[in-house]
Amino acid sequence: MTATALDDGSAPGQAAARPGGMTAGQPRFDDVPLGEEWHSPLYAMACRQFARAADVLALEDEVRTRLLEPRRSLVCNFPVRMDSGEVVNYTGYRVQHTLAMGPTKGGLRYAPDLGFGECAALAMWMTWKCSLAGLPFGGAKGGVRCDPYTLSAGELERITRRYTAELLPVVGPDMDIPAPDMGTSEREMAWFYDTYSQSVGYSVPAVVTGKPVALGGTVGRHDATGLGVVFSIESAFEELGWSLPESRFVVQGFGNVGSVAARELHARGAKVVAVSDIRGAIANPHGLDIPAVLRWVAEHYYLEGFPDAEPVDGEAMLELDCDVLVPAAREEQITEHNAPRLRCKLVVEGANGPTTPAADRILAERGVVVVPDVLANSGGVIVSYFEWVQSHQKYSWQALEVQERLRTQMRSAYDRVRATATDLGVENRTAALASAITHVSEASKLRAIYP
Ligand code: NAD
Repeated sequence: MTATALDDGSAPGQAAARPGGMTAGQPRFDDVPLGEEWHSPLYAMACRQFARAADVLALEDEVRTRLLEPRRSLVCNFPVRMDSGEVVNYTGYRVQHTLAMGPTKGGLRYAPDLGFGECAALAMWMTWKCSLAGLPFGGAKGGVRCDPYTLSAGELERITRRYTAELLPVVGPDMDIPAPDMGTSEREMAWFYDTYSQSVGYSVPAVVTGKPVALGGTVGRHDATGLGVVFSIESAFEELGWSLPESRFVVQGFGNVGSVAARELHARGAKVVAVSDIRGAIANPHGLDIPAVLRWVAEHYYLEGFPDAEPVDGEAMLELDCDVLVPAAREEQITEHNAPRLRCKLVVEGANGPTTPAADRILAERGVVVVPDVLANSGGVIVSYFEWVQSHQKYSWQALEVQERLRTQMRSAYDRVRATATDLGVENRTAALASAITHVSEASKLRAIYP
């Protein structure tokens, strides 16, 4: 597997059809943003990635338009009483990218800078991720603009319950099924499940995934995304002929995805030489004792102060000498500024959208291979799908079955991406998107236009 050079990528070769009756030949969306309401750097990035794959596929303008902008969205403002007695207004979002594939599926993010455009981008990526994994879902994303780290459990519960109530018209077990994302966990999913169930008068476990196992969640969901990242790494290593015990990893982000990926890599004999969280990084060129780091974080919450490691600046850690970089924190971490200085040979994206299109081009020119987010971090939604199936069936699977099915499904998605990359002569991200878009556009065309 080698990196395939990208074209200059600055402007997709074919203009997208535009809403309001505008068609190809009108200004492109990277000159004049499609749908001002979505406009954000992340949505522009998702559109550029889409356009490149759509160009490679020579996708018809009509289908482009339908797949570019979100199909349905909801923005809500709602009051919440804080512990102090003060009432604060919060803004919540839910964006459903396409309804062509079945119900929509995607996480709920709680973050202080969350915006509509970010949700739109993440919803679009969810569509490609579900399609690539062969799941019967379109993509969605949502959340609340808030800082979960400064709120009490009671405040978060009231925010979650009120936000769920606001979403009632657009969510449901066969309509739109949320899951955890940054800043939310199985605790919030339990509140979501309960609030929805209270509103309809009976328990509806299939309305949300990532629930606690005691409430009908699946075994293996918590670890699924990080484990899936490691399954992707194993597939890439097999193809490249590399060995895990002889390789050094840098993992950015030590939350749900990063900590599990680091733990599983360490368990397979790999050297994890640096990990980071929002406060900074720790590094040890001989390899960190990851089980000890996990115990430290369980006790101290942050990585800082961990003995047997050197503190490193959070941004500088991305440029440490290693074989594989696993960005598993946030979007837009690998940019045109640091891409020329990365010293890894492989990037495996645990986070959504961690690499900008400009950085993609630089990495491709430098021969750094990227296993893209829609493939590498799809373990979460794949096991969410298993949970949804179990909730509908009212039948629980065993841990081994969940893990083996995850491995099989991820392996087959990896093989599909690599085969498409070879067929089309493109790099992995465009191949992944092209494969996903082909499937979604086919479904979209078959369902045709209503009425
Ligand atoms: P999380 O909230 O559990 O953890 C995020 C981690 O990143 C924390 O350790 C935080 O301190 C750290 N972090 C935040 N900003 C940082 C920065 N600038 N530099 C370094 N570290 C930083 O979130 P998560 O669920 O692990 O999600 C991480 C990424 O993976 C997100 O992009 C998310 O969309 C994506 N993702 C998550 C899942 C899932 O199942 N949780 C599935 C697919 C994709």
